[in-house]
Amino acid sequence: MTITGDREAWLSGQPGCCTKDAPFPSRPWRMILLGAPGVGKGTQAKRLCGDLGACPLSTGDVFRAAKTIDESEQTEAIRQALQTMRGGGLVSDDLVIDLVRERGHCLLCGHGFLLDGFPRTIHQAQALDKILDELGVELDAVLNYTLDEEEVVARLSGRRICRTCGASFHMTFDPHPGDGQCGHGGPCELYQREDDKPESIRVRLQAYHEQTQPLEEYYERQGLLCNVSAEGGPDEVYTRTMDALRFRM
Ligand code: AMP
Repeated sequence: MTITGDREAWLSGQPGCCTKDAPFPSRPWRMILLGAPGVGKGTQAKRLCGDLGACPLSTGDVFRAAKTIDESEQTEAIRQALQTMRGGGLVSDDLVIDLVRERGHCLLCGHGFLLDGFPRTIHQAQALDKILDELGVELDAVLNYTLDEEEVVARLSGRRICRTCGASFHMTFDPHPGDGQCGHGGPCELYQREDDKPESIRVRLQAYHEQTQPLEEYYERQGLLCNVSAEGGPDEVYTRTMDALRFRM
C-alpha cells in the first residue's frame, strides 16, 4: 500500500510507505536528535533531512496531528495524552512506545530517519533498542544539542507557528516576513503552541532534566553520542552538526 504525502505514514500510523519526491539516498541515515525543547532540533532536522534524504519523525507531530481528528474519533488514550501535552508534561511511556512500534515500517524505510522527541526516557530508549533489534536496524548517531537554559526559555517563549503551513518563526530572532511569504503562498495566521506558554515551559524543562538528560549517558556508553553546541544561528549550528557527522560518514 502506498500512502500519499511525505511523512503521512508516520503521522497517520497507517501501514505502507509514503510517496516521497526525493530518490532514495545512497545510504539511509538513522539518527536520534536529543536536546532540551527549544534548542532548534526541528530546524536542524529539516535541513539534515534535505541533505541526507532521511525523514524527520517527531512524536510531538504525531500528537499534534491527532489533535486535528474529530474528538469523537479519538481514543481515550489519545484524549488523555493530548491533555497531558497541553500542560507540558510527558505522555505515558507505554502509549508513546506503542505508537512508535506501530510505525516500525517508517524505521525500516530506505530513506532513513531522524527521530525527534523520541526517546525521552530511559524506558523508551530501551524499548527503541528492542524495536530496532527486532527490525535488524542499527543507529548511526545520536546528535545531542546543548544550550544554556536562559537561552532555551527565550527561544521557546518567542516561538510562533504559521497555522497554514506549520513554518516556525521567532518574534525577535526570526520574525515573520509578512503575508504570503512563509512557504504556502497565502496569508498567515501565527499562533503560539499551548506548550510554549511560560507555565508549560517550566514543566517541559523539568521533565527534560529529570527524564531525558540521562539518555546522554545511555548513548555515550553505546558510542553513539555526538554533542553539538546549539549556540548561534541555524547556519552555524548546521555547520557544527555536519562536522560532528563527518566522522561517521
Ligand atoms: P515536542 O514537539 O517533541 O516538544 O512534543 C510535544 C509534547 O508531546 C511533549 O511536551 C509531550 O507532552 C508529548 N510527547 C512527544 N514525544 C513524547 C515522548 N517521546 N514521550 C512523552 N511525551 C511525548
